[in-house]
Amino acid sequence: MSTAVIVKSCTTTACSFNDGGCTALAITVGGTGAKASCTTFVALDARGGLPSANGQVGACKRLECVHNTDLLCTAAEVSIAGEDAECLTYEVR
Ligand code: SF4
Ligand code: SF4
Repeated sequence: MSTAVIVKSCTTTACSFNDGGCTALAITVGGTGAKASCTTFVALDARGGLPSANGQVGACKRLECVHNTDLLCTAAEVSIAGEDAECLTYEVR
């Protein structure tokens, strides 16, 4: 059933995986509280990842999100934004 869930956009430019979008092979979404966030976020003195912004969601710990099935994201795509790398597609059941 699982198909690739792409990171449609990410405006968290402080992240080392951001190059006009997400260049990580696969991100993990988690966090606590009212917001879900990308826990793959890292701010290093380097840029890394894929040569182009084709990141996907590899795993998601937010079971209470309507898009979560078996710790995987089933949304068509996700958008990540802000200083806290928030998953804007997150929606509580
Ligand atoms: S989605 Fe996560 S890993 Fe990818 S660029 Fe944004 S904050 Fe970084
Ligand atoms: S949309 Fe929901 S299930 Fe998908 S990555 Fe965001 S919080 Fe996780």
